[in-house]
Amino acid sequence: MRGGRVLGRLALGLMAWVCGLVYASAGILTRAELERAFPAPFILGEKDDQLPVWPIFKQNATENQLVAYAYESVDLAPIPGFSGTPIDLLVALAPDGTFLDVRVAHFHEPVFVDGLGSAPLFDFVKQYAGKSLKQTIKVGPPNGGGASDGAVAVIDGVAKATASVRILNETLLASGLTVARAKLGFAQGRDPTRSARMRPDVFAAMDWQGLVGQGYIRHFRVSNAEAETPFKGGLAEGLDREASRHPDDSFIELWVGELDAPMIGRNLLGDKAFNQLVADLDGRHALLVVSTGRYGFRADDYVEGAVPTRLTLSQSEAPVELRDFAWRSAIPQAPAGDLAVFVIKPQTGWDPASLATLALRATREKGQILPERISHDFGFLYSTPADLLILPPPEEAKGALGVWRDRALDTAIVALALVGLTTALSLQNRLTASARVYPWARRAFLVFTLVFIGFWAQAQLSIVSVIGLVRQGSVGFLLYDPPSLLLWGFTLATLFVWGRGTFCGWLCPFGAMQELVADFGRWLGIKQIRIPDRWDGRLKNLKYVALAAVLAAAAIPSAPAETVAEIEPFKTAITLEFVRSAPFVIYAVGLVVGGLFAYKFFCRYLCPLGAAFALIGLARRWNWLPRRPESGSPCQLCKVKCRYGAIKKTGEIVYRECFQCLDCLVIHNDAQQCVPLVLAAKRRPQPRIAAT
Ligand code: SF4
Ligand code: SF4
Repeated sequence: MRGGRVLGRLALGLMAWVCGLVYASAGILTRAELERAFPAPFILGEKDDQLPVWPIFKQNATENQLVAYAYESVDLAPIPGFSGTPIDLLVALAPDGTFLDVRVAHFHEPVFVDGLGSAPLFDFVKQYAGKSLKQTIKVGPPNGGGASDGAVAVIDGVAKATASVRILNETLLASGLTVARAKLGFAQGRDPTRSARMRPDVFAAMDWQGLVGQGYIRHFRVSNAEAETPFKGGLAEGLDREASRHPDDSFIELWVGELDAPMIGRNLLGDKAFNQLVADLDGRHALLVVSTGRYGFRADDYVEGAVPTRLTLSQSEAPVELRDFAWRSAIPQAPAGDLAVFVIKPQTGWDPASLATLALRATREKGQILPERISHDFGFLYSTPADLLILPPPEEAKGALGVWRDRALDTAIVALALVGLTTALSLQNRLTASARVYPWARRAFLVFTLVFIGFWAQAQLSIVSVIGLVRQGSVGFLLYDPPSLLLWGFTLATLFVWGRGTFCGWLCPFGAMQELVADFGRWLGIKQIRIPDRWDGRLKNLKYVALAAVLAAAAIPSAPAETVAEIEPFKTAITLEFVRSAPFVIYAVGLVVGGLFAYKFFCRYLCPLGAAFALIGLARRWNWLPRRPESGSPCQLCKVKCRYGAIKKTGEIVYRECFQCLDCLVIHNDAQQCVPLVLAAKRRPQPRIAAT
């Protein structure tokens, strides 16, 4: 016990140290530094109270004219770079969406720190000056000439630093779009978190013709005559002979649909490939584009995995980046022609419910030497059919209050369950009075925990929230998840009463899943391996190592804490219900199946959250499980029956390993099982039956 206390104090000390560290993901520039960065004639205004941006003014006659918003990208889009630390850019964005100035405020990209030096990075960002958020800005090959033609602006990449400059580009665009939406009215100020989502439950078996006929896949056509019209009267008139010869034939036919909608994706890909696609997309959208005809949407310079140059998408006058998803699964039903799946990130503000314009650029060339290029964009209006979408709740429901209103029923059910559980555990002797009924009552509660708390209410507590606490220094984000907040509050309170067992034994959905699977295995006759005490004791320390690793990663800004946190399989098993890429699914399934043979292997040996609760639970003041003088000496029944190895040979309970399953209490209260009670009954003189 003393060893446990020392371990607990050490771990609590480590946690306190870690929590005390400041996570440097906020902007670093002071007002004085910003004023130096934008000297006279510019005037730095007051920092906005809604968004971390500073207006920059310039005196024009008698009034101050707004010329830009200055901000640090790390405040708005802290996308981890190669070292894990976000690249911080100082940006000046003009009211029309043009980048006036982009500089690197801070970076830790290994390729520039240790290899190429900072000069190529500083030269790279200079190229953004004058480019507009209304264009699709993409990073091209190094020394590519930086060609820009209206809709698409190409920035020269940096050799050997392709990944780093792409991350920088993402950072700049994501932060710029956030400012443009909030301050410049881009995308009608739409909040990307309030876009419509695909309905997972709308599906009817249909072939390609059916999908097109129902309007789920949109069909567009441009005839040769229509392709000629915009060029009439100009230099390029009549250059396309084919168009003049066969005016009614198709110049291009296009089919467009959201492949991540089950109605389209399941019908075209089949269940397995569709599930894989959704897992790979990880919250992004996938737009399927197919074309036939004389003109394709793939230009000669089309590169898989890159931004197309001939096809652009825009919504509410803001560009939406399309990037080839390099999707390899065949779509045999699609017409033979050009086919691509484009991925769209939610940060672009793309809302499938709103009208968008898909623009196809047609270019003609006049002249042999240094030909003149004349282009026209053909626009097609596209939106995803409403019956495939879940629309966001009305604007007034936004914010934490709205979330609490929306989730009132879930929260009330969880609250009721917690009241019921507290009452039942407070009356633990009555709860365990029947050795036959109690296991079924426990199983019923575990099914509730798994199905309602886990799958339905998505209230699986996770070490990721602890990372959020360490990094952001606050748990304000939990206000947006009332059932989880309730569970956190209840769990922390019960740690001081019963220890970690109340959460781990009753309220953890993944813990419940493992226990139910193990019960099922027992019913099937699968024998569990009993790990020898010596090894059991050693393996149990692994979870503290896992906890220390997660906390250390959370405290070091450059460390990939969320990746380290993947040691807990909750996201895969509970949040995503095993629909994720293969390595994660194999790991989670492996742990669940492994639990069939080694009882709750993950909980006992690996879980960092369980370790954190075990350590905080050391502050528990009561030994609430009753013991008999014979417990441990000579009776070893409870020790042998405890599947968590939480009872020492001496009969003492190790509460930090106790999952409050109450199996030992059932034995303690059962005159048929408890050895001291059985022996006492045998010793008691039996009533004589009088002879008649
Ligand atoms: S040890 Fe971890 S997985 Fe197991 S019940 Fe506790 S929190 Fe859940
Ligand atoms: S059997 Fe073990 S885990 Fe269950 S309540 Fe008793 S000591 Fe705790």
